[in-house]
Amino acid sequence: MRTYSSRDRERLAQSALAVRRSAAATHPLLQLQRTAGNRAVTSIVVQRKSATDTAPAKVPGFLALDPVVANYVGKKGGGALKVETHSGPDLKALFLAYVKKHDVDTRSQETFVNGFTDLDTNVIHLNRDKGDAGTIVHEALHLHSDRTWISDQHWKVNEGATELFTRRVCDAAKVGRSDDAYPEVLGALRLLVTFSSVEALAAAYFKNETKQLQSDLEAVRPGLWTDWRITIIKSIKAANALLESLK
Ligand SMILES: [Zn+2]
Repeated sequence: MRTYSSRDRERLAQSALAVRRSAAATHPLLQLQRTAGNRAVTSIVVQRKSATDTAPAKVPGFLALDPVVANYVGKKGGGALKVETHSGPDLKALFLAYVKKHDVDTRSQETFVNGFTDLDTNVIHLNRDKGDAGTIVHEALHLHSDRTWISDQHWKVNEGATELFTRRVCDAAKVGRSDDAYPEVLGALRLLVTFSSVEALAAAYFKNETKQLQSDLEAVRPGLWTDWRITIIKSIKAANALLESLK
């Protein structure tokens, strides 16, 4: 049996402390475990973001919180949503079948891992394992968008506008929305509205009343509305450069 002098014991205690300190420094989770207790850590570890994080019944109320959106969806935010949740592979199969039926631009497929809205049945399909609390808000806005607007505009314009209103609603409702959701098309639409207004974009998106948006852009430069829409089909970067050159 080994015996320790008091000096040895002190040295051992110091090194044990040092190990604990370095563990705390390199592992925030361990540090949190020590300071907040095991229960808090457990809840953080099991928390997983998903498109099913927001109860569908809450979404119409959320939509109504943004005055620009409420102007079109009403003070109650429209009727109850029909929502189905699926595994990732099941959702993808459903979406590919929908794409085939509607001849949707296949380049938009990459944006549909979290959910999509079937405009024939008005059912929102969500991935139970992906997305975030704002996904259902985004899909609900698609339901309220004018169908002619959807068919007339390129998917980049439609998705960018949908995400622009999604962020407004999520901000108003304090619903989490990842910065990774549609960042490029969102940026393009945000830049576009600096030449017009969110109100004009809303009239176009919800009612297909594009007059104001078009005339605001025509006032900057004749033909700009058409030029911008042609340019963004080819490249978002080029469409942004076109607008930036007119600032
Ligand atoms: Zn979308």
